[in-house]
Amino acid sequence: MTDFNSSLAEELDQLRAEGRFRPLVVLQSAQDAEVVIEGQRLINLSSNNYLGLNTHPRLEEAAILATRKWGAGSGAVRTIAGTMAIHEELEQRLAEFKGTEAALTLQSGYTANLAVLGGVLGEADAVVSDALNHASIIDGIRLTKAHRYLFPHRDMGALEGRLEEARRDGRRRVLVVTDGVFSMDGDIAPLPEIVARAEAAGAAVMVDDAHGSGVLGRNGRGSVDHFHLEGRVAIQVGTLSKAIGVLGGYAAGSQELRDTLIHLGRPFLFSTSHPPAVVASCIAALEVMQEEPERQERLWENTRYFKAGLEGLGFDCGHSETPITPVIVGEASSAMALSDELRRRGVFAQGLGFPTVPKDKGRVRTIVTASHSREQLDRALEAFAGAAGALGLDLHPAEARSA
Ligand SMILES: *Cc1c(COP(=O)(O)O)cnc(C)c1O
Repeated sequence: MTDFNSSLAEELDQLRAEGRFRPLVVLQSAQDAEVVIEGQRLINLSSNNYLGLNTHPRLEEAAILATRKWGAGSGAVRTIAGTMAIHEELEQRLAEFKGTEAALTLQSGYTANLAVLGGVLGEADAVVSDALNHASIIDGIRLTKAHRYLFPHRDMGALEGRLEEARRDGRRRVLVVTDGVFSMDGDIAPLPEIVARAEAAGAAVMVDDAHGSGVLGRNGRGSVDHFHLEGRVAIQVGTLSKAIGVLGGYAAGSQELRDTLIHLGRPFLFSTSHPPAVVASCIAALEVMQEEPERQERLWENTRYFKAGLEGLGFDCGHSETPITPVIVGEASSAMALSDELRRRGVFAQGLGFPTVPKDKGRVRTIVTASHSREQLDRALEAFAGAAGALGLDLHPAEARSA
């Protein structure tokens, strides 16, 4: 038998050989429009902090007050003694926010998907999933014994075919699962088309709106609100860790859904509930989203401005329809080189390559937030232009493209 650590080292060497070994980036400042990394102040285009809520004084204050009142930790899993009044208050607020009968919070968006998929689907059931769904959905599906039907990204003809197969196979419950906003390309799921096909086939729909909440819909209610599909999506999963600015996940839907997850959602049953500080700042975040809609407006203004700037420089931003704006450059190594060059020029934007994205679609992924100033976005665009020049990237500005 090989020595444990040297066997791990071999696998790590393999990752290095594939260019997939990336040291963790350590922030020496709060997560904000600018961050400090290795002593250097950088414009931050890498966070999911869409509305800038994580440093909002209301959220910080709520965390402090809740800690003083309820303590630092919750002390138990929800089903034993870890449900405080404040946990249930957040769930009622989330149900109101999502326009559903009930909601249940989980420790993270990741565990929310594990709890939901593992909790509502059994051997007799089927899950029909978009091939580009988030890793937490894929892992959640792995936890179920339900039959799996995949359809290629956004392919509605294939979705119909898979639904028909599930019907022919005589599955009990059929659940169509999709991200609301896809995290690599920033495209929005064709939810009205998905819902129509699911309804025609007698299937239910689950949308994971991790990147949709705070971004789409009235006051950031998400993709279901954006498309006016209230009451037609059985499960809305979300995260409290992105636009909401804190930590956690939830599933919103019927009372039956909530009760099922309380009894059968394994991450809910076997992992301790949120500290009161987390819960209280999430409640404050929902209040701020209601009272300061200008944050969502600024997010979209910044998004439009920055995207237009990148495209004006000739970068390929793919099919993005949201603040997630990929800058697609090809090989993973080119993406990493662009990211490094941007860093030298004062911009923090992570490179992503295969296998996270297709081989020829390596990219630097950017996300602007409501907190970025016009001046910061201009400086970031200047850095992109300078980095492209330094690396000799082949750009196609709009004039050249139409020629
Ligand atoms: C980020 C993300 C998650 C995980 O949320 P966490 O709260 O960070 O665990 C789940 N689903 C999607 C689509 C995501 O983008």
